[in-house]
Amino acid sequence: MARYTGPVCRICRRENRKIYLKGRRCLSPKCAMERRPYPPGQFGPSSQRRRRRSDYALQLRSKQALRFAYGVLESQLRRYVHQAERMPGVAGENLLRLLETRLDNVVYRAGFALSRRQARQLVRHRHIEVNGRIVDIPSYRVRPGDVIRVCQNSKNLLPVAEAVQAGFSRPPRWLQVDVEVRSVTVTDVPSRDDVTDAPADEQVVMEFYSR
Ligand code: SF4
Repeated sequence: MARYTGPVCRICRRENRKIYLKGRRCLSPKCAMERRPYPPGQFGPSSQRRRRRSDYALQLRSKQALRFAYGVLESQLRRYVHQAERMPGVAGENLLRLLETRLDNVVYRAGFALSRRQARQLVRHRHIEVNGRIVDIPSYRVRPGDVIRVCQNSKNLLPVAEAVQAGFSRPPRWLQVDVEVRSVTVTDVPSRDDVTDAPADEQVVMEFYSR
């Protein structure tokens, strides 16, 4: 199976950065990066000291961090990279823009899910509609003017209610959220400055694919 289904905290420990895959737990002292901030495995604690990472290793780790953070497969990310290169402007920023405008990411950014994984599940389980029509494709690309809503029957769904209550999401400038109605309007395309928590340097990721 191409999709990773193992323990997700190992991913953060492998990439040596917090990727926020577990919602509320990521902000608590139970976070594995707080308790064991070294790579997983028998030689994890000592492996960091052993040798300097090559440029390739740094690029690979950045690429993996970006991939896991947005929950995309290798082939999908590669497709996004090709698309970003063909768009006008800086390719790395285009890549981030493409990832940010995925429907599952917008649901997460709006604060209707505690993690992108949970947001993806809400989309897949047909709890989300775009402009009045149910869309169950997590990679669906939203555009300015689109109105994304939690379906009427799913508004009080436990994960959605929990996420709204937790309230630790800070919607970016390009999203206008109405928490009561559980809807979010896309007002603009995201710029590089809007992505303050990018899990990796997008230019390094582009370098990985330009090898
Ligand atoms: Fe696990 Fe979240 Fe901490 Fe990553 S940030 S190690 S997913 S709890």
